[in-house]
Amino acid sequence: MRHIAVIGSGPAGYYSAEALQKSFGENVRVDIIDRLPVPYGLIRFGVAPDHQSIKAVAKRYEKVALGNEVRFVGNVAVGRDISIAELAALYDAVILATGAPDDRPLDIPGSDLPGVVGSAAFVGWYNGHPDFAGLAPPLTGPGAAIVGNGNVALDVARILAKTRAEFTGSDIVGHALDMLEQSRIQEIHLLGRRGPHQIAMTPKELGELGYLEDAAPCVDPSDFPPEADDALLEPGMRKSVAHLRGFAAAPGAKPKTIAFDFFAAPVAIEGDGRVERILVERTRLTDDLRSVGTGENYVIDCGLVVSCIGYRTPPIEGVPYEHGRGRFANESGVIGDGLYCVGWARPCS
Ligand SMILES: Cc1cc2nc3c(=O)[nH]c(=O)nc-3n(C[C@H](O)[C@H](O)[C@H](O)COP(=O)(O)OP(=O)(O)OC[C@H]3O[C@@H](n4cnc5c(N)ncnc54)[C@H](O)[C@@H]3O)c2cc1C
Repeated sequence: MRHIAVIGSGPAGYYSAEALQKSFGENVRVDIIDRLPVPYGLIRFGVAPDHQSIKAVAKRYEKVALGNEVRFVGNVAVGRDISIAELAALYDAVILATGAPDDRPLDIPGSDLPGVVGSAAFVGWYNGHPDFAGLAPPLTGPGAAIVGNGNVALDVARILAKTRAEFTGSDIVGHALDMLEQSRIQEIHLLGRRGPHQIAMTPKELGELGYLEDAAPCVDPSDFPPEADDALLEPGMRKSVAHLRGFAAAPGAKPKTIAFDFFAAPVAIEGDGRVERILVERTRLTDDLRSVGTGENYVIDCGLVVSCIGYRTPPIEGVPYEHGRGRFANESGVIGDGLYCVGWARPCS
């Protein structure tokens, strides 16, 4: 009989347990250990509450969990309640599936002001993560700035823009829904250092912005490269850019706007004891598609800044760690003898 400890109960943890079930059948026992009292990681606490079809993947994990070989052990933080050395003595192998729960810091002056929130906290707040239930983000408006040009930024923009009725059928928590209904935010800015061809947004999520009850996306037509260049994009990106071109060609007139501020790098956040504005430098692309500042700045008045610029895996005592890259030191997922990492705890770059 093999005894395996899987640390983390998100997708990577459950897919690991499923693979172990398939490989060893009755001859394996897997303990999935999580610091939280409930399983499924970011499927529960990250994926947007109005995207129930994506959250439905948890049914597959439930099937794994119901197998006799697999046990969920909640409320145990590895590194705090039990050490890696203790686990190594108890199990044949330890698999770290702890994800990347820490926001990459928004390293600009003023980023410590109240009203600047990392996406992990903001997303956790509306998804019922116990660490962020008391976040109470300032939704006093009229402006909000979201830093980042990926799907997490899109999720945050959409959640800020939706009406209460549009959350019907979602599993958004009541405290967030009540606060969002009272929100006075009307101008939501999505800041990206590069242009429409460099976004990391998928077509389905972008397309949704065109169908919001009270909010319309807004894109400056002059931000696009020549239309012929779209043919060089891979098909998914081409569809995403087509959505953006559609938004630029037919700007909607609704009470709220979701403005795509392309070629825009945040340089400082200012305010008297809280966020009141964000200073942004216009950028341009170099030949190798890096963004560089132009020296031209503008200001967005806002009471809330949400940074959606990526995540990091925090270290665990006893596990070799690359501080520069913010990840466990590993070679193809192998950290050491009997110690492995998977999923977001094992980023490829
Ligand atoms: C806002 C947001 C929206 C997303 N939306 C989508 C989407 O729509 N579609 C999609 O396909 N993907 C989406 N993703 C990505 C998806 O959530 C991740 O790819 C996936 O959850 C990563 O799985 P994981 O198991 O590696 O990590 P996680 O899901 O983060 O799971 C890690 C688990 O480890 C636990 N843990 C951490 N440290 C410890 C410790 N020391 N001891 C014990 N337990 C610990 C955590 O509590 C957590 O349960 C989204 C991500 C975010 C952040």
